[in-house]
Amino acid sequence: MTDRIREFLKTRREDGPCVVVDLDVVRANYRSFAHALPDTRVFYAVKANPDAAILKALEELGSSFDCASTGEIEMVLATGAGPERISFGNTIKKERDIERAFKLGVRLFAVDSYEEVEKVARVAPRAKVFCRILCDGAGAEWPLSRKFGCEPEMAVDVLEHAHRLGLTAYGVSFHVGSQQNNVNAWDGALSSAAMIFRECAERGISLAMVNLGGGFPTRYLKDVPAAKNYGEAIFSSLRKHFGNRIPETIMEPGRGMVGNAGMIETEVVLISKKSETDALRWVYLDIGKFGGLAETMDEAIRYPLRTPRDGDDVAPCVLAGPTCDSADVLYEKTPVHLPLSLAIGDKVLIEACGAYTTTYSAVAFNGFPPLKSYVI
Ligand SMILES: *Cc1c(COP(=O)(O)O)cnc(C)c1O
Repeated sequence: MTDRIREFLKTRREDGPCVVVDLDVVRANYRSFAHALPDTRVFYAVKANPDAAILKALEELGSSFDCASTGEIEMVLATGAGPERISFGNTIKKERDIERAFKLGVRLFAVDSYEEVEKVARVAPRAKVFCRILCDGAGAEWPLSRKFGCEPEMAVDVLEHAHRLGLTAYGVSFHVGSQQNNVNAWDGALSSAAMIFRECAERGISLAMVNLGGGFPTRYLKDVPAAKNYGEAIFSSLRKHFGNRIPETIMEPGRGMVGNAGMIETEVVLISKKSETDALRWVYLDIGKFGGLAETMDEAIRYPLRTPRDGDDVAPCVLAGPTCDSADVLYEKTPVHLPLSLAIGDKVLIEACGAYTTTYSAVAFNGFPPLKSYVI
C-alpha cells in the first residue's frame, strides 16, 4: 500500500468496491524492466490493465505495446503512440481485424499456424510475422495451456510459409506462463528459438527477433525474484544458445508492470457460520469472482488481505463474493486466516490487484456495477 493510495482512500466517499492504481509504481516497474534487459524493447501487454492513464504514462516513458484486438490497438493509438510501437500479439485474429490493424499502420503480427499466416499475407502484405511456439508453463501459477503456439519443428515450416507468401519471417515468440516464479523458465524456449533460427537460416531465411513474452511475477503472499534476476538469467540463456549472435529481443510484461501498483478496497457484507458448531466462519465481501477477482479461479492467485484489525487473533475463514452464483467463492480449499474481531462493515484491502481485475469484472451480473477504477 503506497501513501498516495492511503491518502486517496481517506477522501473517497462513494459506496462499493474499487481498485486504486498508483502510477508512480507503474513507472518504477517500467524502469526496472528497461534496466533489467537494456537492449530489449518493452511491449506492455495491454490486456493486464488497459486504463487510458496507464497507457499514457507508459507511452511517455517510451514503452511499446502488445495488443490482443483492434480495440486495444485503438486505445494505444489514442495515447499518441505511433503504430510502429504496436505488436498485434494474438495468434487468433479475424482477417478483417488484421486488415484494420494494417490500415492503422501496424506491421508486426503473431502467428502460430499456416492458416493464420495466409490471412496475414492476404491483407497485410510484407508485414513482419513472428511464430509463437508452445511452452509447458512449468513453474507458473497461472500457466497458459496448449491454446497458443505450435511445436518448434512446425514453427520453421510456418515461418517458411510466411516467407514464401511475401511476408517478412521476423522471429519467434513464446510465453513461459503467467506469474512465473522460476527465473530459468526461459531457457528451454530460448534453446528451441535458437534451433528455429538455425533451421530457417539453412533455408535461406534470416530471422531477427525473439519475443520473450510475459510471465514476470507480482508479489502476492510470497516473495518473488526481482526483474534484475530475470534479466540476468535470460541474458545468460541468450548467450548460451545464440553465442555472440544475440538477436533483437522484445518482452511483454503485463502482470509484472501493473500488479503491485493497484489495490482493491472492499467491505465485509456478512460474517456467518453454517451451524452452531462450525469451526469455519464464512466471510462475504462486496467483491468476488464476478467483480474482478476472476484469477481466484481454482484458487490460483492468492491475494494478500489487510484488515483494520490486523494484529488481533486470527482463525480460518472461507472467503466469498456477494453474488447469487455458488461459484462465487474465492478461497475455500485453502481457507484464509482473518481476525476473530473482524466485523460486518469493516473495510478489507486486497493487495496487488493492479493486473487482470478491472477488465475481468462483469458488466452487471446480479445488478452489481463493474469494478470502479481510479488511477492516481
Ligand atoms: C497475456 C500476455 C502477456 C502478459 O503476460 P503476463 O504474464 O501478465 O506478463 C504477454 N504476451 C502475450 C502474448 C500475452 O497474451
